[in-house]
Amino acid sequence: MAVIMDGKLVSQRTRERLRQQVAGLAERGIVPGLAVVLVGDDVGSQIYVRNKALACDELGIVSFQYSLPADTTQKQLLQLLDRLNADPAVHGILVQSPLPEQIDEAFITNYIDPQKDVDAFHPYNVGRIMLGDYAFLPCTPAGILEILRFYGIDPAGRHCVVVGRSHIVGRPMSMLLLHANATVTICHSHTQDLAAHTRQADILVAAVGKERFITADMVKPGAVVIDVGMNRDSQGKLCGDVDFAGVEPLASHITPVPGGVGPMTITELMQNTVTAARLFGGK
Ligand code: NDP
Repeated sequence: MAVIMDGKLVSQRTRERLRQQVAGLAERGIVPGLAVVLVGDDVGSQIYVRNKALACDELGIVSFQYSLPADTTQKQLLQLLDRLNADPAVHGILVQSPLPEQIDEAFITNYIDPQKDVDAFHPYNVGRIMLGDYAFLPCTPAGILEILRFYGIDPAGRHCVVVGRSHIVGRPMSMLLLHANATVTICHSHTQDLAAHTRQADILVAAVGKERFITADMVKPGAVVIDVGMNRDSQGKLCGDVDFAGVEPLASHITPVPGGVGPMTITELMQNTVTAARLFGGK
């Protein structure tokens, strides 16, 4: 029986610390502010944006919401970003993806002031993460590190296998584990004999986006298993990349879906906003 790593609990504890940081900033006359920009009417994005606003309210962070129509031009979005980049009340800017096809997402990412890039997607911040000298950590990998820390799991010297190499999860996750002195293997869709790699993992991170893709035969007994996946099964039920029922009995620790990595992602976004206000606010 594995220890079920409770992302909601870790998130609550992290938010308690964040409240104290927000109170400390208030003494310096700084109220952290997060601008969230939504373009179009994607239902999933609307839910994410609403949850971000709720988290801001809970922590005393001011949330600035911008809901733009689906036919917004790139120029109009850039004009809004000009205003937000210059606004001293805004410490973090997040443009919710996906964006409509007339907008070049990479261009938008590069346009956000790196000091307000609380997603840590700007090439400047990606470069700093590569160097191990960063102000912001990408939210999902940062949340995973926080979960590992909470459960006393030190990646140093362990073999970590990350399945997935996306810019938002797999790659930065691998880099952060490397900074934490793990030996890291990165797997992707061209990896041959994937199971031979995953079976060597002391810590296995699945960020593939495929329902119950990691099965018991792919996991070493006693491994720590982190499931990043957020997929819908044929009944529309939320499920991860890991076959939880099969893997849980042989893992030492495992994150559930829901209630594992997911709750940490928004909390880490709040952390980055507070960090931005602390480092770059009040200038
Ligand atoms: P992407 O689709 O961007 O990346 C998926 C990765 O999986 C790619 O690197 C791809 O390889 C790899 N992959 C696909 N098929 C295979 C295969 N058969 N064998 C090995 N590797 C494979 O997804 P994301 O990284 O954005 O997200 C991954 C999952 O995490 C999704 O379910 C997403 O919803 C979830 N997610 C959850 C978050 C949370 O807060 N809990 C936050 C962000 C994402 P290649 O590069 O070769 O194509």
